[in-house]
Amino acid sequence: MTAADQTRSEPATGDAPAPAHPKTASLTLEEKASLTSGADFWSTKAVERVGVPSWYLTDGPHGVRKQVQGGDHLGLLDSVPATCFPPAVALGSTWDPELLERVGAALGEEAKAEGVAVLLGPGINIKRSPLCGRNFEYLSEDPIVSGVLGSALVRGLQGQGVGASLKHFAANNQEADRMRVSADIDERPLREIYLRAFQRVVTDEQPWTVMCSYNRINGVSAAENPWLLTDVLRGEWGFDGVVVSDWGAVAHRVPALEAGLDLEMPYSGGRTDAAVVTAVQDGSLDESVLDTAVDRLLRLTDRAVAAADDTASYDPDAHHALAREAAGRSIVLLRNEGGVLPLAGAAAADASDGDIAVIGEFARTPRYQGAGSSQINPTKLDAALDAIRDAAGGRTVRFAPGFTIGESTPSHVVGDDTALAAEAVTAARGASVVLLFLGLPGEEESEGFDREHLELPAAQTELLDAVLAVNANVVVVLANGGVVRVSGWADRVPAIVEGWLLGQAGGGALADVLFGAVNPSGRLAESIPLRIEDTAAYLDFPGEFGHVRYGEGLFVGYRHFDARDIAVSYPFGHGLSYTTFAYGDAAAQLDEAAGVVRVVVPVTNTGSVAGREIVQVYGSVAASAFARPVRELKGFQAVDLEPGEGRDVVVDVRLADLAVFHPLAGRWVVERGVYGFAVGASSRDLRTAADVELAGDEPILPLDAESTIGEWLAHPVGGAVLGQAMQAAAGAGDEAGMFGDPAIVKMMASMPLGRVASFPGSPITEDGVAQLVAAANGS
Ligand code: BGC
Repeated sequence: MTAADQTRSEPATGDAPAPAHPKTASLTLEEKASLTSGADFWSTKAVERVGVPSWYLTDGPHGVRKQVQGGDHLGLLDSVPATCFPPAVALGSTWDPELLERVGAALGEEAKAEGVAVLLGPGINIKRSPLCGRNFEYLSEDPIVSGVLGSALVRGLQGQGVGASLKHFAANNQEADRMRVSADIDERPLREIYLRAFQRVVTDEQPWTVMCSYNRINGVSAAENPWLLTDVLRGEWGFDGVVVSDWGAVAHRVPALEAGLDLEMPYSGGRTDAAVVTAVQDGSLDESVLDTAVDRLLRLTDRAVAAADDTASYDPDAHHALAREAAGRSIVLLRNEGGVLPLAGAAAADASDGDIAVIGEFARTPRYQGAGSSQINPTKLDAALDAIRDAAGGRTVRFAPGFTIGESTPSHVVGDDTALAAEAVTAARGASVVLLFLGLPGEEESEGFDREHLELPAAQTELLDAVLAVNANVVVVLANGGVVRVSGWADRVPAIVEGWLLGQAGGGALADVLFGAVNPSGRLAESIPLRIEDTAAYLDFPGEFGHVRYGEGLFVGYRHFDARDIAVSYPFGHGLSYTTFAYGDAAAQLDEAAGVVRVVVPVTNTGSVAGREIVQVYGSVAASAFARPVRELKGFQAVDLEPGEGRDVVVDVRLADLAVFHPLAGRWVVERGVYGFAVGASSRDLRTAADVELAGDEPILPLDAESTIGEWLAHPVGGAVLGQAMQAAAGAGDEAGMFGDPAIVKMMASMPLGRVASFPGSPITEDGVAQLVAAANGS
């Protein structure tokens, strides 16, 4: 398989068009139109006359939000109890596709038990700015992490016979003005950063549905975008499922249908169905467009019917245990000076270990998910405080809330934060260790609006200072859906545990990590900047007057920090363990048949406890003709190692993931050249590297009179043809002699060849250029 096969950007000509559904022809025009919009908030319409049933779709992504009474897309009304798995911000930090496939399968079991045919997720939009209010629902700032993990979730879910809805397609990277804003992006970053994860999940897993986003892309609404929904999604990637709108994304139903949007959600009161009927009747809409959408919807209905199972059920306790395992793998140990963690717990503690002070309302009132459409009604909820008490064995655990969380979060404490802080300082004084739970109040990050800053509430950082004044042994445990600024205090505490939003079992998982029952293996799927001003989109977020310009291009997240050599608090890929790992020398080899570069690196656990390392491979290309980040993640692999154990870790980097989108050729290409693969434990902790030379599959672009001398010289045929002409000219006279001087040729490299002919005394004539063009292009 070549890279071009894998990164196909021409229409998928080999794939036969899907056959018409046998029922389509028996439906009336009105019946067909009726199928293209919802029956209510969460279900599709039935056509009983011909036995087409209704089916159910609902949020997603990290739990089943099935509303029995009423419906809303902002998580305002109640829903049936369901397991609240860790939201995507946490799952992304696991770097663990095997685990996410199991989470996906559990989501599938619950959806099936609730009669849900399609679960609305996963959300795989790129975290362009840490200020996006919905970053807690997204996996990463990197398209390989988002693509690999998004695929795993879809695989698990669909393995249970429940469809995924891959969202939000596409370039929905902010909440500000989300229903109108135009994300103005050049084609390379659009393809290489913002669409890349979608492309991988669609081509690898064929999600049953893709959800189009609210926003515009380069001026065209995603819902009415034939390039996006048909040319790219179906033509290039071979998507054969249903495109569903985000809730309320459709402004003009007929153009949306023509663009490839099959199902409008939710219910439009029949208004848009009537518009479709009228458009067919007055000839402005070709009925075959409607038929194609109906074919797709009926095929999806068949799938939903075939998979439905009235007897399906799930085991809430087993799912709670899985949620705890997933949360444990999501936690990122950012800092652990002097090995303050893990704490000695029930098994190992003795009286000399002293008291533990647990401070911070979040320890008792967990913040475990974000606000909006993904808000789950959990089957259970574990508080870290209870789990810490259980794990601490004989050690005394003192608790003080320290602060109130905020209006909308239920709090056990009313009253003045000053009094709470004083009480907390008393609890901290004399304790052997302080576990200080800090985090963002729920109202600061949500679907529907963006964050204004990265700061923790001042009451919390002031509390941290006050506690540090009486006890230096402070472990900060964070609860936040988007990254928070830690610079300013991170260096003053011995340990920081990034606990994200961990779902309903996060409290237990935090105790598992704090006491060492789980050795942390989470890694940052997004950089933690020193300040918001340092971030890539800072000057271009969230845009103005309906447009947001993605001026940073490809340089998102660590790609930006590395290109500008900007210091960060914690880099992409970072995360500590209670053990240490040594890397041997990496080797890399092309396996053409498999379409991969195989990177092999020996890794050894050099510490005294079992642990899991996430081996990361970053690629770069020497002397590339394309603007490129300094390094880009190209693959990763987890490895579990016992103390002293060593293993060869294999990371297969797909050639498709080495491809760049050639803006002139209009297709993906693997550039010819020497590829470096740096291997390590984070984007800034690279331990070993290996090179591979690839022939690539670059297109030979035709030359013409407007091609520059530089382009002529770089062209495999044109270079030789022009070189001969230049040599001949160099011997022909004074003016021509300049063609023999490399310094002059360098100055002239940016000059179109045809313009040279127009200079007085030019050794190259217009006819001569025409002959060179013919010779170079082989005609
Ligand atoms: C969100 C989607 C969600 C839908 C249905 C929208 O507001 O953007 O992610 O699936 O509502 O609740």
